[in-house]
Amino acid sequence: MSANVSNPGKAPSPTWHERAARLTPQTRAFIGGEYVEALSGAQFDNVNPATGQVFGRVAAGDAPDIERAVAAAKRAYDQGVWSHTKPAHRKKVLAAFAQAILAHREELALLETLDMGKPISDSLKVDIPAAARAIQWYAEAVDKIYDEVAPTGPDALALVTREPIGVVGAIVPWNFPLVMAAWKIGPVLAAGNSLVLKPSEKSPLTAIRVAQLALEAGLPPGVFNVVPGYGHTAGKALALSVDVGAIAFTGSTATGKLVMQYAAQSNLKRVSLECGGKSPNIVLADYPDLERAATAAAYAIFFNQGEMCSAGSRLLVQRSAKDAVLDKVAEIGRAMAPGDPLDPATKLGAIVDETQMKRVLGYIEAGRGEGAKVALGGRRVRVESGGYFVEPTVFDGVGRDMRIAREEIFGPVLATIAFDTIEEAIGIANDVDYGLAAAVWTRDVTTAHRAARALRAGTVYVNCYDADDITVPFGGYKQSGIGRDKSLHAFDKYTELKTTWLDLS
Ligand code: NAD
Repeated sequence: MSANVSNPGKAPSPTWHERAARLTPQTRAFIGGEYVEALSGAQFDNVNPATGQVFGRVAAGDAPDIERAVAAAKRAYDQGVWSHTKPAHRKKVLAAFAQAILAHREELALLETLDMGKPISDSLKVDIPAAARAIQWYAEAVDKIYDEVAPTGPDALALVTREPIGVVGAIVPWNFPLVMAAWKIGPVLAAGNSLVLKPSEKSPLTAIRVAQLALEAGLPPGVFNVVPGYGHTAGKALALSVDVGAIAFTGSTATGKLVMQYAAQSNLKRVSLECGGKSPNIVLADYPDLERAATAAAYAIFFNQGEMCSAGSRLLVQRSAKDAVLDKVAEIGRAMAPGDPLDPATKLGAIVDETQMKRVLGYIEAGRGEGAKVALGGRRVRVESGGYFVEPTVFDGVGRDMRIAREEIFGPVLATIAFDTIEEAIGIANDVDYGLAAAVWTRDVTTAHRAARALRAGTVYVNCYDADDITVPFGGYKQSGIGRDKSLHAFDKYTELKTTWLDLS
C-alpha cells in the first residue's frame, strides 16, 4: 500500500482486502427483531467466488424457521404496530432506513462483493446507492397516494381503498442481491405489510445486515424478517405458508413455475414473478453512431459478468454493419478482462459460484458444438486464484435455433445473429420464451416506434440499453414473469383493493 502523499500526517486508508480481513459479517437469521440461529443449528458455507474459499457459515433456515418468521410477521401485522400507522410515519422510518443504508455503504458494498464476486466499484457506485434510492422513493411516495370514490351516482357512496395484504414473502436471487431485495422491501413495507425475505443462499449477507439497520431506523420488531436458507427448503416453505398473503419472487423461470405451484397447493396467495430473459439488442445499419451502439451492446452483456436478467444477450445486427459493430464489441470485451473484485479498477469480477461457472462454460461448449464461431474469449481465466472467472465471450454466426440463441446463459456470453430486414429482426427477437427487455438502434423515428410496438418485452430501449430509473415499471412478458417491480405500479402487488358501498337512498 502506498503512503498517503497528499496528507503525510494521516494514516493511509486501508485497502479493500484489509477491510475484508477485518470484517465479521452477521450470518444468522433476523426474526422478530433479533438475530437467531436456525432452529436445527444447521449452517451452510459462504464461499467467496473470487477465491473459492469459505469465508463464513450462515444459518440454514428451513421450514420451522420460516414458520417462526411468518408468525413474527403476522403478530406484528395483527398488532398494527406498522400496518396501522400513518403513511407519513412510514415515510419517516423508511427514509431513515434508506439513509442508514447509505451511511453503511462501504460495509454493504464489501459484503456484496465478497458474497457474489461483482467488482467493488460496482457494488459501491451502483448496487448500494440503487438499493437506498428504491427504499427512499417508496418512502416518499407512500403519503402521496389517494384512494378513490367511484362515480356511482347520487344514491350511493362507493369507496375504493387500498389495504396492505398482511404478510408478504419475498424470494430473491444473487445477481443484484440488495437491489432485488430493495425493489420488494420498499413497496411492501411502504404499503404497511410485514415481510419475510428469503435471500439467495449464494448471497445472503447484505439482506441479513440491512434488517438490523431497518430496526435501528425505527421499524418495529417482526415487521421485517430475513431467513437465509436454500430454495428447496426455506424458499419452498415460504411459498407454501398459508399465513403468507402474497409472494414476490425474483429468479429463474423454472423456480418461478414452482412458486406458482406452491401457491396453488396452499392458499392461492398472490404470486408475482420476475424471471429470466434472453433479450434482443437490434442494431440497424442506419444508426449514425455504430461505435456508440457497439459500446452499449458490450456493456449490456458484460456488465455484472453478464449475470443480469435484462442482459442484451442476443445481438441482432444488420448484416452490412455487423463487422464494424463486432470489432468494437470485441475491443471493449478485451479491455474488460476479469480481475480481482476487490481491486477498484476491476470492471468484470467473478461468476457467483462453481456451478454457475460450469453452466456458462457448458453453454460456450454448446455454441461451439452447434457451429457458432468464437469471435472473442471462450475460456475460464485466473484459474490460479481459485475463483470462478470467465472471460468476455462473443459468438458470431449464431443460428436462431441454437441453444445459445434461445436459452438464458446468465454469464458474459454474447450471441450475434445477422439479419437483413427489420421485419426479420423482430421475428427473431420475439421467437423465444422470454420477453423481459429489448432494444432497437435506428435513426428512423418511424422504424423505432413500429419496432417498439412490435417487440414483446416489458421494456424496450430505443438508441440506448439498460437505461434505468425507479420511476418506471420493470418486468416481463411471456415467461419472463408476471407483475411489475419499481414505480407506483409495484403497489398493485402488495395491496388489496376494497370496495365499500354506502347506500344513500
Ligand atoms: P433461482 O431461481 O435459482 O433462485 C432464486 C431464488 O429462489 C433463490 O433465493 C433460491 O434460493 C430460491 N429458490 C430456489 N428453488 C426454490 C424453490 N423450489 N422454492 C422456492 N424458492 C426457491 O435463480 P438465481 O440463479 O438465484 O437467479 C438467476 C435468475 O434470476 C435468472 O434467471 C435471472 O434472469 C433471474 N432474475 C430476474 C430478474 C427480473 O427482474 N426479472 C432480476 C434478477 C434476476
